[in-house]
Amino acid sequence: MKLLNMTVVTRFAPSPTGYLHIWSLRTVLYNYLYAKKNNGKFMLRIEDTDRTRLVEWSVENMIQVLASVWLIPDEGPNNPGDKGPYYQSERLEIYRKYIDELIKNDKAYYCFCSSERLSELREEQTSLGLPTKYDKNCRFMSEDEIQAKLDAGVSYTVRLKVPEGKKVRFEDTVKWKIEVDTKDIDEQVLLKSDGFPTYHLANVVDDYLMWVTHVIRGDEWTPSAPKHVLLYEAFGWTPPTFSHIPLLLATGGKKLSKRTGDVSVEIYLEKWYLVESIINYISLLGWNPKTTEEFFSMSELIERFNLDHVNKSGAIFDVERLNFFNAHYLKNSDINDLYNKLLTYLKRYDEEFFNTLQKFPEEYNKNILNELKSRIKKFDELKGLTTFFYTDAKLAELDVFINPKMKLESIDDVIASLELVEDVLTKNDELTSVNEIKDVFVDAIKDAGMKNGQVLWPARVALSGEEFSPGTLELIYLLGKEKSLERINNVLENLK
Ligand code: GLU
Repeated sequence: MKLLNMTVVTRFAPSPTGYLHIWSLRTVLYNYLYAKKNNGKFMLRIEDTDRTRLVEWSVENMIQVLASVWLIPDEGPNNPGDKGPYYQSERLEIYRKYIDELIKNDKAYYCFCSSERLSELREEQTSLGLPTKYDKNCRFMSEDEIQAKLDAGVSYTVRLKVPEGKKVRFEDTVKWKIEVDTKDIDEQVLLKSDGFPTYHLANVVDDYLMWVTHVIRGDEWTPSAPKHVLLYEAFGWTPPTFSHIPLLLATGGKKLSKRTGDVSVEIYLEKWYLVESIINYISLLGWNPKTTEEFFSMSELIERFNLDHVNKSGAIFDVERLNFFNAHYLKNSDINDLYNKLLTYLKRYDEEFFNTLQKFPEEYNKNILNELKSRIKKFDELKGLTTFFYTDAKLAELDVFINPKMKLESIDDVIASLELVEDVLTKNDELTSVNEIKDVFVDAIKDAGMKNGQVLWPARVALSGEEFSPGTLELIYLLGKEKSLERINNVLENLK
């Protein structure tokens, strides 16, 4: 398998048991990056042999989420090539053929033990504090005995015959050399009594038949790897290169799980996180770019990604760090591009806000987004911050206008300030930039012998209806002269 000039093939091989989780996204990303970096192929294979855990919508959902985060397999159920079928449940005949080959070559054997016997065995071992393992009861049956049981239709499984007194050795790019004594390896079931293969057999056969050169997967599969290596040996195949990537932990060091926070990738899309932030942040969970830089686009990641720089120890998934990356990408995005992304999210996740935006000129929406993009960490904060741009501003309580520190002690003070604002707005037509608006107001406030805060504070409250909002000059710029005047007049009328 490790021949020169062999195309690199990686794969993501999920069991369709629910949503795509953050840790799986990282597995996919590393497989994708490694394949792309080496001009190779990234495949998707569905490991659905454990029929009890199947979730019907899972595959379609995973494919859709992967596409949303730009990780589209080169080959898989939705874009087949010549290595299909990609659902293991559609490959049962293939596995049967390989099982027969193993039995014929004395690398696997029939096991007729009943499930009752196996659970008794397990209980006994547990009560003695021993590791639970098959006791090889059927390993040494004679051919006649076996044939008699088969003829009598006794239900059976097929188990791996683990060579005795040997060490299984292999290299892992993350953990380097791994060595396990065969006495510590269970004689794994390869074919279940329902005719379905177990994960181990199907995984190895498919990686071989699909020409997978690099198996990059989570550390939780490290204990399975020696069994897989034994299987490769039993078939006479060269194993792929293994990389078992470190576990993802929650802040505080616990294993990441539903209990520690949101772990489904889709939830982050529903919260309108930018894909570039998700990808960039996830890429760094376990991989060290060996530089102090931390912002990488997908193409930069493809260029730099390297399996040798995957860390051995667990990485912490911290939403605050994700927010930090997201804030960076929001702030630095081109406004047209960002606006289109916003619309895409809204179409999918918030039709109401989408329809609201459609009622206003694109220019108006973009200016607002442009003003706010450096103040938010997430798109979804936008909605709360922009209500007053899209509905009539509510009337703030009087005590929000009153601000003794700014010489606003009474209603009359507030009215005097707002009248000045009204006057300036009425007299000036060219309010086409925040700087221009600033010049006009600073001059007028000075001429009136007033202080900036004294005028701009109540103006801001009148324009937004809120105690906190972007600054007055920005608001006038974004709302435009007409709407600003309307709001100032409305508040004046009410105060009078
Ligand atoms: N089906 C396994 C899973 O659900 C695949 C593990 C592997 O990549 O070998 O993660």
